[in-house]
Amino acid sequence: MTHQHPESVDHAWRDLVGTARRSAADGLVVGTSGNVSARVGELVLVTPSGVPYDRLGPEDAVGVDLAGRQVLGALKPTSELPLHLAVYRSTGAAAVVHTHAVHATAVSTLVTEVPLVHYAAAILGGPVRTAAYARYGTPELAEAMLEALRDRTGCLLANHGTVTYGDTLDQAYERTAQLEWLCRLWLTASSVPGRTPALLDEGQLAEVTQALKGYGQPG
Ligand SMILES: [Zn+2]
Repeated sequence: MTHQHPESVDHAWRDLVGTARRSAADGLVVGTSGNVSARVGELVLVTPSGVPYDRLGPEDAVGVDLAGRQVLGALKPTSELPLHLAVYRSTGAAAVVHTHAVHATAVSTLVTEVPLVHYAAAILGGPVRTAAYARYGTPELAEAMLEALRDRTGCLLANHGTVTYGDTLDQAYERTAQLEWLCRLWLTASSVPGRTPALLDEGQLAEVTQALKGYGQPG
């Protein structure tokens, strides 16, 4: 904590709790099933294990260093901590959102890559992959996740949920919301009896990625 400006930590914690509550209010998380983290310098703030988001106050901040050692707060960090830390160690992420959003989790049981039914996949860096199943909280899950995240800002975790990251909590959250929407869209289109959804090809998606770069306000 010696390197941290306390105000920036307080501010980041407020943002983090706001994002966590939003994920519950928007139906992406039920009860205490998801978790959110944000990086402030060498400190990673994370939601604590098993505490409903509406009960989290300013005094409940939980922080760990990049090795996972708790350096702030008394509550126990989320059991999905290895997954969050793996993202920070491997990317420039400033925020990570993990949920068990229902449509995305349903799709994670069906495919190894989310079919390209919509160009919104470009927001996540391309076709979204599903990480191989491993038990929650394990290094094996973190490893499978990193593999699925290669050149992407989000992935599915097989029979488990979603992970997205971003430069800000809002961006990471928005990516989760888009991923859930994309999965819901595919499930809706692919559930029409006797019909198969038309898919975009990688070239069409690359065109969108290019267009978004020039757009200034992607998403
Ligand atoms: Zn989980």
